[in-house]
Parts: sequence; structure tokens; C-alpha cells
Amino acid sequence: MLKNSALSLFKDFEIPDHLLSLSQTVEDEMRETEMTMNDLASRNFLKGLKAFSDVGISESHLQASRGYGYFDAGREALERLFARIFGAEEALVRPQLISGTHAIRCALFGLLRPGDEVLVVPEIPYDTLQPLFGLRKASGSLSEWGVQVRGVSAQDCLSGKIQMGEKTRVLFVQRSKGYAWRESISISVLTKLVQWAKSVNPGIYVAVDNCYGEFVEDQEPCDIGADLAAGSLIKNPGGGLAPTGGYVAGTSEAVEKAAAALTAPGLGKEVGPTLGLMRDFLTGIYLAPLFVGEALKTANYASGLFKALGYAVLPEPDAPRTDIIQAIQLGSREKVLAFARGLQRAGPLDSHAIPQPFPMAGYADPVVMAGGTFVQGGSLELSCDAPLREPFRVYVQGGLSFLHGKLGLLLAAREVMKNAFSI
Ligand SMILES: *Cc1c(COP(=O)(O)O)cnc(C)c1O
Repeated sequence: MLKNSALSLFKDFEIPDHLLSLSQTVEDEMRETEMTMNDLASRNFLKGLKAFSDVGISESHLQASRGYGYFDAGREALERLFARIFGAEEALVRPQLISGTHAIRCALFGLLRPGDEVLVVPEIPYDTLQPLFGLRKASGSLSEWGVQVRGVSAQDCLSGKIQMGEKTRVLFVQRSKGYAWRESISISVLTKLVQWAKSVNPGIYVAVDNCYGEFVEDQEPCDIGADLAAGSLIKNPGGGLAPTGGYVAGTSEAVEKAAAALTAPGLGKEVGPTLGLMRDFLTGIYLAPLFVGEALKTANYASGLFKALGYAVLPEPDAPRTDIIQAIQLGSREKVLAFARGLQRAGPLDSHAIPQPFPMAGYADPVVMAGGTFVQGGSLELSCDAPLREPFRVYVQGGLSFLHGKLGLLLAAREVMKNAFSI
């Protein structure tokens, strides 16, 4: 039986009754997982709040710095805060880091030298990292700088199949699946990878692409021995509020190398103005764990709803998660576009826009994106993207509020179903 509240709640959005009733069943079955996710969000929120207090964040830290940004007490406090939250010695948190790819670029160019080798897990990394490694041709790639790049699987590392040479300097691990149909790398698997790498080669740096993984578990990569973790502030740790930026957290040595690659050798972390963004960064990291909790509930609901509609989903409903990404295999270009159109309808901005596929720098295929987000491409906000290629999967992420996530997915489902009947 459909509860009246569900009917009346969404009455302005013309969602068919049968979909609302399916939604109710899906939600009722997920109560336990929802509670687990709320508990996780509470723990990570309180951990963050404790860090604010331990570091002594104060109102004066909200001040903007300009010019070179020398002696910026606010920026230094923000970086101590990130270091504390991410279980690291030091952090680099900057608006001058434009994206996750840029933060990872600085980290890897900081750690690697010509002639060194980097092991890359998984073998085929995220689209925008492929040109960085030189796996797709691009000017300025690591391979152009004489770094040997070897893609390996986590399984092969852990089963002892992978040998390291004298020049193997970095094990790079991408935690989230990206646009791939595989399980993301959990903190528990990452722990084994760190132990393996350090036992074979104690001098190796383990660098982690932490994009979409922040606050999804109780521990972060540096808590379990990774030397460095990097990510984007327009994903999880910006809490939907940071308008730009990236971070690198890790050992002092690793972070200082990344800082030298970002600014200049000799300058490192000493320069870099915050330009009035301190309030956004601080409110963002303060709220991020709660919003990640909402995003996790949204992802799990997406999994349940689309599985019930007959589509393959990854992760499965109620499965453990280590990132906020939900992959849904829709099977046709038309359904992917219909899904994006539906999700866009729920956006606070541009809800009447029809998402179109477009070629994007760093990506091999045209990508369709939807969201109507306040920050362009901000993906802790409810959004989806899909590279338009076989077998036509869509990747959903974010949702600062589960209620908004649910509405977006119901509208997406409605459009996909219309599409299924009209062709
Ligand atoms: C988003 C993402 C990146 C970096 O992407 P940007 O768009 O540059 O922030 C890297 N790896 C993974 C797995 C990602 O999801």
C-alpha cells in the first residue's frame, strides 16, 4: 500500500503511482543500511568537529589573503585541519589546485624523477589520469618526462605476481572505480596493498587517488599507512560549498614535494593566497561528512530502485561502499540521455535544460552530465555523468539531501521508462 505521505510529497512532480509505490518498497527494505550510513556520518562529523577544536580554528582564520599569500595564518590552520582529519602529518589545501587531476598531477610530479617507475592500480585508471600517465598521448605526461608507467591489478599485487625494480618509486592506487565496472578499492584492500608495497620495497611511496572516497569509511588512506592522498574540493571534502580547489595530505616529505611541484622549488607551501575562500573551505569541510552520508543514502537508493526496475547495478543494494559512486547499466544511448534529462529536472538550477553530450578535455568519449549544481561540475551535489560508449552506463553521485536525491532518481526513472516504451 502506498502511504499517502509519499503520494502527496511528490504530487507536483508527476511521478507515476506505480513508481512511487516501488520506491516505497525499496526504501522500506533499506532502513538498516540507512541507519548504518547515518551512524557513519555522525562519527565522521564528530571526528571533524574535534579536529576543528584541536587545531584551534578561530574566526580570524576566515580572513582573506592576497598577493603572494606569505604568512597566511588562515591557510596554515586550514592545512593543519585537513592533515588532522586525514590522519596525515601535513596537507596542502589550495584554490590553486584546480581539480582532483591537478592535485594528483602535483603529487606524482613531486614524488617521481626521470628513470623512476610508477605502478598504477588499476591497470586502466580514470579517464583524466590516462593523459597524465601518458597512457593516452598528451604533451607533458609522466612518460614524456621519462617515468616508466606500469598498470597492474590489485589482485596481482596481492598474490605476489608483481615484481618491483630498483627504480620502482611509487605505487599509485585509484580508490574509486571511476567510469569502470569494477569494485572500488576499500580501505581494507588498500591496507593490504600498503603492507605489500612496503614489505617488498620499504622506500616506496604509496600515493592514493582519494576522489569520492573521503568520509565513506571510518579511516582515510593515511590512517592506514599511505604516504599521500589527494582529491578534489568540488567532490566530498568541499561539502558542496567550496567553489574550487584540491588537496594533498600525507607525510611532511610527500606533501612538501607536491607543494614544490605546485608552486616552485624553494617556495613550496609558503606562498598561495586564499582570496576570500576560507569561509567556504571551512564550512565545506565542517559539513562534508553529513553531506557524504546523504550522498551514500542516495547512491544506495539509486541501486535499489534501478535494480528493482531490472537494470544491472554496481554496487548492489546494501553492499558495503568505499565511494559515493553508483553505476547503473542502462544499455542504450537513448536511456542514458533520458536518465540525464530526468535527473536534471530535479536540479535547483537549470531544471529545464536538456543535457547534451559534449567532448570534454581529458576524456576519451563524449560525456553527458546532468545536475543543475551551484558549482560547475560539483559532484557532491546530486549529479550524473556518462561517457557515451558501450554498454551505456550512467554514474550517479552526490545529493546534499537524500530527499533531493530521491526526487532526482524518481524523475530519472520516469524518463527512462518512458523511453523504454517509446522505442
Ligand atoms: C573525479 C576523479 C578524479 C579527478 O577528476 P577531476 O575532475 O580532475 O577532479 C580522479 N580519479 C577519480 C577516480 C575520480 O573520480
